[in-house]
Amino acid sequence: MRTEANGTISVGMTLQELGQSVISGRVKAAELVNSYLQRIEARNAKINAYLSVASEDARRTAEDLDAAARRGDPLGSLAGVPVAIKDVIAIEGMTATAGSRILEGYKPPYTATAVRRLKEAGAVVLGKLNCDEFAMGSSNENSAYGVVRNPAALDRVPGGSSGGSAAAVAAELAAATLGTDTGGSIRQPASFCGVVGVLPTYGRVSRYGLIAFASSLDRIGPFARTVEDAAMVLGVIAGHDPLDATSSRRPVPDYVAECHRPVEGLRVGVPAEYFAEGLDQEVKLTVQRAIDSLRAQGCVITPVSLPHTRYAVPTYYVLATAEASANLERFDGVRYGYRAPEVKTLSDMYRETRDRGFGREVKRRILLGTYVLSAGYYDAYYRKGQQVRRVLAEDFLKAFEKVDVIVTPTAPTPAFRIGEKTDDPVSMYLADIYTVTASLAGICGISVPCGVSSEGLPIGAQILGPHFCEGTVFRAARAIEQGQTV
Ligand code: GLN
Repeated sequence: MRTEANGTISVGMTLQELGQSVISGRVKAAELVNSYLQRIEARNAKINAYLSVASEDARRTAEDLDAAARRGDPLGSLAGVPVAIKDVIAIEGMTATAGSRILEGYKPPYTATAVRRLKEAGAVVLGKLNCDEFAMGSSNENSAYGVVRNPAALDRVPGGSSGGSAAAVAAELAAATLGTDTGGSIRQPASFCGVVGVLPTYGRVSRYGLIAFASSLDRIGPFARTVEDAAMVLGVIAGHDPLDATSSRRPVPDYVAECHRPVEGLRVGVPAEYFAEGLDQEVKLTVQRAIDSLRAQGCVITPVSLPHTRYAVPTYYVLATAEASANLERFDGVRYGYRAPEVKTLSDMYRETRDRGFGREVKRRILLGTYVLSAGYYDAYYRKGQQVRRVLAEDFLKAFEKVDVIVTPTAPTPAFRIGEKTDDPVSMYLADIYTVTASLAGICGISVPCGVSSEGLPIGAQILGPHFCEGTVFRAARAIEQGQTV
């Protein structure tokens, strides 16, 4: 971070170096946190990335950390690092709206495991970040609390649904953030805003404390300015959690060390299906240049085929809406947040609360999901969707017999204009065309900046790896990152 307020924080310090500097007392956590809070104060009104800022809590935590550093108490690796969290993730005592009216003012009584781990490592939570309502969207335009603006071009969307998480990192309103990805919601906004976003393998990071959208697809992951920083954060939040039965017991490798391993000999697959019709020409050329730079660094580039790719978007929208319709049933005006006033009967209360509390896109998905699960259609849609999901996963398994990672564009275009797609849900869904496949297959991935368009809009390359091969994905991503700076 280039902060003038505090001369000790030098340009290009990694999160690891920052944590070490706070531990050694060279950098004061309180000054660091204050400089971020000042930036938020100055810039958030324009970007709208933050829905709530916990200034007092953050300042107090930072001062406690400085006091502990002075005493020489042991501190975690992210000591004093200012972070912020997508508003679908619970933190005790802070509002969690999920970008929805229906959860207005709701304060969860517990903290998500991923956030608890960040705090235990010394990170300081600055606040909660804007997102599409219940993480449903690709542009952040579905938030009940207003659109987020892309820091690279204020008339453009930041992507979605973790638009606030991507924009906050891009605008230096947090050193790192957490988002969630169900069908692309970390990778696509990372690509639109020019930052790094990680989709960890399903089961790598506990979902405890995440407000569910589609439970078999939802994942929590980090955003950061560099691959190494993202690797550092993932290392902190990953690992088994008894509170999430789907979290894996596999040990967590040293991802930062993995980033620095050479890529020579790494086998990189390029699927023709991801470079076909509908792909913006500039995005295509920029991602191809990133692939050329991997080749120049000693990677072996091989064509691969993922033949069922074209079925991914419809499959995703059948399965994700089905799960959403079940998960969102709990918002009934009784247990959480908003309740419609002045209603006579209990069923009126349910109906009015949901009618006024949910936005259009959420209602559209509840209707779609209820339909695909209904008697008579279940086999035609939901069961069929499950079967196609398996076929898509097998495409990847087959490709990963030949290659270590796969490189594709993250999104078919750079960030589009605010309002450009809001009237056409299907064209909005197509923004997910390259990201939903990995979501359905449960594999890991990343979006790493690889250039800008002629209009100066960021372009991201997506790297996908087999289950639990985040280390290899980081290694390839870092090579793309390095390839740009040399
Ligand atoms: N854009 C996709 C959707 O609207 C993905 C959202 C997400 O990953 N949370 O469902």
